Amino acid sequence: MPMNTVSAASADGSSVILTLNWKVPFVSQLKLQSYYTGHASRAFNVRKFTASYIDFVFKYTNAVPDSDSVFGENSPVSFAQWLDIGKDGTSTLRVFLKEKGAYYGYRAYYSSDNRLVISFKEKPLSNKKIVLDAGHGGKDCGAIGANGTYESNINIDIAERVKNYLENNGVSVVMTRRGDSFSSLDERQDFARAANADMFIAVHSNSSEDVSLSGTEAYYYTAFSMPLASAVHSKLAGVWRELYLNNSLMYDKIIPRDGGVRFFPYQVIRIEECPAVLIECGYLSNPTECDMLSNGENREKIAKAISDGVLEYYNQNK
Ligand SMILES: [Zn+2]
Repeated sequence: MPMNTVSAASADGSSVILTLNWKVPFVSQLKLQSYYTGHASRAFNVRKFTASYIDFVFKYTNAVPDSDSVFGENSPVSFAQWLDIGKDGTSTLRVFLKEKGAYYGYRAYYSSDNRLVISFKEKPLSNKKIVLDAGHGGKDCGAIGANGTYESNINIDIAERVKNYLENNGVSVVMTRRGDSFSSLDERQDFARAANADMFIAVHSNSSEDVSLSGTEAYYYTAFSMPLASAVHSKLAGVWRELYLNNSLMYDKIIPRDGGVRFFPYQVIRIEECPAVLIECGYLSNPTECDMLSNGENREKIAKAISDGVLEYYNQNK
């Protein structure tokens, strides 16, 4: 591979714009996080989202411009600097956030004049747009519940109700599927990217060979999605506490021992463009929980809880 030179770098509002010799691969790393091993074999659980900068490591790159970039005042990032230039054939562009933890994703693309644009998402203040992804559908029914119900039907019903709640609160919502149709995981990811979403929420219901398992979980992949997962999960746990108030066996299992907010590399949430979470509303394999999820009134409460979690996340990040 020929070595790459970054011949120019500038900042425009909330974007870094780079002129490269060729389209080298790069990776981004959000730093610094405190991680914990809260769940067996899952080593990337984020205790608290505390990133203060993001590193872009460009492969095959040994020459960069020497000027630092300064960003606009309304931008979520303050300045950038090059580090480790040419080290192991890579160079790192470190972009500092204006506020610790105030980070909501980025989009990278090549402009018409072939310059690399790395555009950072601003705080989700207005024009909120959410992509709701009801898991499974069509030829893929997902899990089959203890009473024979299909996960795909439970998921779409909850997602449609979440859509109503959010729209009533001024949020614009797009769905990766309406009705009982199939789309691949790639299509769902592409959909989220094309929609330029501020948030991506996949709605699923859980299943296990161990039918005694029950309760709710929320998953994230990117570290900056953890606060959204946590906000939605805590509201969902709240509604299950209400539903199981008179059933101490189920009540005690609503939140798993590790807290239920977990890192996991599910494909649909492996996007860098916005906070993305996958919600497991409850266990369809558990007969009691399956009956609860099969009840429309309960699904309405669950949908309201998801919506409340999203709105709380917005309010925390104003
Ligand atoms: Zn599922």
